[in-house]
Amino acid sequence: GVIWSLVVKGNTLKFLVLYEHKPARNCMVVVPDQAVVLDWVFADGPPEQAVVYDNNLLQDFHAIVPKSIPGELYWVEEEQQIYKNLQAERRFREEALRAKAEKTVRLKEETKERTLKTFLLSQKHIVYTDPIDVHAGSTVTVFYNPANTVLKGKSEIWLRCSFNRWTHRMGLLPPQKMIPIENGSHLKATVKVPLDAYMMDFVFSEREDGGIFDNKNGMDYHVPVFGGVVKEPPMHIVHIAVEMAPIAKVGGLGDVVTSLSRAVQDMNHNVDIILPKYDCLKHSNVKDLQFHKSYSWGGTEIKVWTGKVEGVSVYFLEPQNGLFWVGCIYGRANDGERFGFFCHAALEFLLQSGFHPDIIHCHDWSSAPVAWLFKEHYMHYGLSKARVVFTIHNLEFGANLIRKAMEFSDKATTVSPTYAQEVSGNSAVAPYLFKFHGILNGIDPDIWDPYNDKFLPVSYTSENVVEGKRAAKEALQEKLGLEKSDLPLVGIITRLTHQKGIHLIKHAIWRTLERNGQVVLLGSAPDPRIQNDFVSLANQLHSSHGHRANLCLTYDEPLSHLIYAGADFILVPSIFEPCGLTQLTAMRYGSIPVVRKTGGLHDTVFDVDHDLERAQACGLEPNGFNFDGADGAGVDYALNRAISAWYDGREWFDSLCKRVMEQDWSWNRPALDYLELYHSARK
Ligand code: ADP
Repeated sequence: GVIWSLVVKGNTLKFLVLYEHKPARNCMVVVPDQAVVLDWVFADGPPEQAVVYDNNLLQDFHAIVPKSIPGELYWVEEEQQIYKNLQAERRFREEALRAKAEKTVRLKEETKERTLKTFLLSQKHIVYTDPIDVHAGSTVTVFYNPANTVLKGKSEIWLRCSFNRWTHRMGLLPPQKMIPIENGSHLKATVKVPLDAYMMDFVFSEREDGGIFDNKNGMDYHVPVFGGVVKEPPMHIVHIAVEMAPIAKVGGLGDVVTSLSRAVQDMNHNVDIILPKYDCLKHSNVKDLQFHKSYSWGGTEIKVWTGKVEGVSVYFLEPQNGLFWVGCIYGRANDGERFGFFCHAALEFLLQSGFHPDIIHCHDWSSAPVAWLFKEHYMHYGLSKARVVFTIHNLEFGANLIRKAMEFSDKATTVSPTYAQEVSGNSAVAPYLFKFHGILNGIDPDIWDPYNDKFLPVSYTSENVVEGKRAAKEALQEKLGLEKSDLPLVGIITRLTHQKGIHLIKHAIWRTLERNGQVVLLGSAPDPRIQNDFVSLANQLHSSHGHRANLCLTYDEPLSHLIYAGADFILVPSIFEPCGLTQLTAMRYGSIPVVRKTGGLHDTVFDVDHDLERAQACGLEPNGFNFDGADGAGVDYALNRAISAWYDGREWFDSLCKRVMEQDWSWNRPALDYLELYHSARK
């Protein structure tokens, strides 16, 4: 005797129950949108207390929900809901990515600004201005300390000043006699900066009419002026090179050509690269490759293609005589002839295309001929305004060509100040020291960025370096089957050649194990004897110290990222090292470099115990451990101090990791140095 009915009211069902001869009962049930059938039973009390149920003789009661949405519509709605959820998730992810990208840009900008400040302050012991940020239209005071210059001890010092790299319409301001400041070693003079200035230029002399000058070794002193109505006109720089990362890279030269170009371009200058069009180019990294023109030279047709690589414009020369259709960059018996032809063809292309670059920059023996071909031929034909800059990346090869390029170039550089000194006695370099400068290489902060690195488990900046490195260390231990415990971990990432200090590397492995640390080596040897030697060592260590040492004797870029992040120390005990990138990358990932004091390693790693002053002179704080000798005792000296520091004071060690991450080893600073050099070449 049960009668029931359902009354629809919005999405609420009124549930009316009539038992025969009893007053009607009703209740309300909110029906979900997608419900199709309603199921119920009756009971004599609430769920926990009910005793008697009417479950319709075990079948329960069921009713089709009137006006319920039809099946099709149900799925449409369901789909829409899923779609909405997905959209919300995607928005959330996109938002997070956008915030991350914004933070990346912000960090980059902040670093750049800090580096510019450091650059300006780096000559503070000689020259600085008050205020440091010079604004157009303001009056500034120039301070000068002759104690460390050629004007030391002169009774008078005269300031000779102009603007806009000596091109300002007012010309040279009348020389001003500088006034000594009380209780200080500096002298001072005030200068009114015109509204149309973008750069202040000065030199110092001993007399009003000249005499001895301090012109910073020919570079002059320059201080940028902000907020002027005239902007610095862009320079046009053309690199003529036979390598370019990542499309035609063999070594560091290829990296420098690409990243220096990008950095200089970022500073609003125009950069082009001329490269042979090898058949083995990695075409997938060239954007918008297209035929540009063709010209005849050297008894053949040369097709010119253009494209963009990493945002830099490249002209590819493809001589139809097939000189670059040989499946490799180097390694043919006629490499010298092939690259000589290329250099000549590149200058011919510049001339025939009516280019007027300010700077032609050539590199190593392979594009050295540009220097003298330009001076002997092209300079007289209309490329006259160009100056030639030549960079030595490696003095091991092609000494005769390098010597000749040193002679004919307007300025020459190598890849670190210390390496410049170390090679200064070489006969290819010695006669030209007056135009030879050491400028450090940098690392690409986009490729090496622990905040955006797909090979790391946790992305990190200096703010969460401890957490980020801990996660990376665990992932590294896991991957290489090392014991997962908190021990000092020494990483070594290197080509295994004599240059890299093989005997020192082996010594350091044993010393680290003895100090209860862990060691990971990633390296490969071009020489099979060395490779075999390390394979035996790897096997030996695998059985004796498998939980604390792993030697990976291959080339593995993803693994290198995890080691840079997961290691506490990166060891670089090179016998010689023109610049070295490993120690710079280590610092970018908050790992502490332990290095031998040679070449660029000496210029970039400052010992926490010994190099405070030397670091501060570069506007830095000490950042690592270093040693002199080329024997086991040398390595021990640095490595033991490093490992002890790790055991003795984790808080101090963590702050050191944070500190090195905040140092800028990108191209920001080197690009400023190259620009100064380019400008001085044009004087
Ligand atoms: P060099 O150019 O003399 O080999 P650098 O320090 O200038 O030395 O550059 C070495 C570069 O090669 C670094 O970026 C380093 O990370 C990388 N590298 C060296 N060996 C390996 C390897 N086995 N696997 C991955 N990367 C390596």
